[in-house]
Amino acid sequence: CGIVAYVGNRMAGDFLLNGLRRLEYRGYDSAGIAIHGPGDVHVTRSVGRIQALVEQLGSNPTDGSVGIGHTRWATHGPATEENAHPHLGGDGEVILVHNGVIENFQTLKSDLIKRGYSFRSATDSEVIAHLIAEGLKVASATTADAQERCIQATRWALAQLRGTYGLAITFRDHPNFLLATRFGSPLVIGVGQNEYFVASDASPLAGCTDQIVYMADHQLAVLTPDDFSVSHRDQGQVNVQVQLLETAT
Ligand code: GLU
Repeated sequence: CGIVAYVGNRMAGDFLLNGLRRLEYRGYDSAGIAIHGPGDVHVTRSVGRIQALVEQLGSNPTDGSVGIGHTRWATHGPATEENAHPHLGGDGEVILVHNGVIENFQTLKSDLIKRGYSFRSATDSEVIAHLIAEGLKVASATTADAQERCIQATRWALAQLRGTYGLAITFRDHPNFLLATRFGSPLVIGVGQNEYFVASDASPLAGCTDQIVYMADHQLAVLTPDDFSVSHRDQGQVNVQVQLLETAT
């Protein structure tokens, strides 16, 4: 029900956990984060309050300056740790958080199972992660550039989805960028100095930056610590408007 993501030079965990707390008002039953640490991505999930996640993190390292986070309001599959986001695709090369509902997930799931993918959860969201993993195989034949391959794989997967999504996606082997995209579920980008934030709404951004981009349906953002760009499914690269976030004083 809420998404946050961070790419920059500070500890991602600080923004992710504070951001999830500020999204608590939207309601949720479980939460989780994934952070690129040295050599690996650390995924931590827990049922219940954000505080339960914080306690679970006590035994898991959170060092790292790129990460994604999620509060879940279950639509498919009960509120368990396995069903909490982030979800992994393939052998873990794709890691994502999802808001929304994928209506054709059952068909996509059967097809992916036939192709050898094994599912770890009962969610509709996990289908997206495996689809992107499959997309990486399709794209690898034609695209040498790693970032471009991840974008193509994501677009390939999105084209097969029926339903709504806000997504923040990271790739195990590429800690230097994040993808964010939406259709029907809200998503904003916070523009900082050598850091970028993603959230379901502007509330997590207060105190981080007052520069904000409201993403439109079918837009896909690529965020690195130095830069961000937004493209549209049908229109290619778009010049987005950075707006001033009004905060109560
Ligand atoms: N449909 C997804 C699930 O059940 C996402 C729910 C949400 O938006 O929090 O896990």
